[in-house]
Amino acid sequence: MASQCQCCSEIETIQHVFIDSPMAHQVWQHFLAIFGISLKVGEMLQHRFQTWRFSSQFVKGGHIRTIISLLVLWFIWTARNDVKHRRISMEPSRIIWRVHHTIFLLHTGKLFQFVHWHGNFDLTPHFGITLISPTPNPPTLVYWYSPSVESAKINTD
Ligand SMILES: [Zn+2]
Repeated sequence: MASQCQCCSEIETIQHVFIDSPMAHQVWQHFLAIFGISLKVGEMLQHRFQTWRFSSQFVKGGHIRTIISLLVLWFIWTARNDVKHRRISMEPSRIIWRVHHTIFLLHTGKLFQFVHWHGNFDLTPHFGITLISPTPNPPTLVYWYSPSVESAKINTD
């Protein structure tokens, strides 16, 4: 017997929970708007990944566009489980906040590099992030020259 969705009266399928439900739709719509990706109604889950993956020529492993789509799925899933097992209501705004907050934490933990935002530097303020362009050849401030072979070491301890 099929289960009923945790957010509405529909049958709970993967496609419904992650893409078609009103709750999932609202979450996706929020991030699609930020990244300028048009919503394709009725898009299958696997195609939603490809839509994000091929939405920019700069997308490679770890790019913000792939991270966002994975986080959206993850937090929809945890919200669904919170309803089912903990009776915590499912709020699209909470899922959206969790995605934003996780992006901010990943940035704070220095897990993002400049390349991960390539093509989307203008979107960092949406996540409370300021990226600093890496210096091609950072100045070296400390030098150490090895002593000549004849030098004597003075033990100052
Ligand atoms: Zn539903």
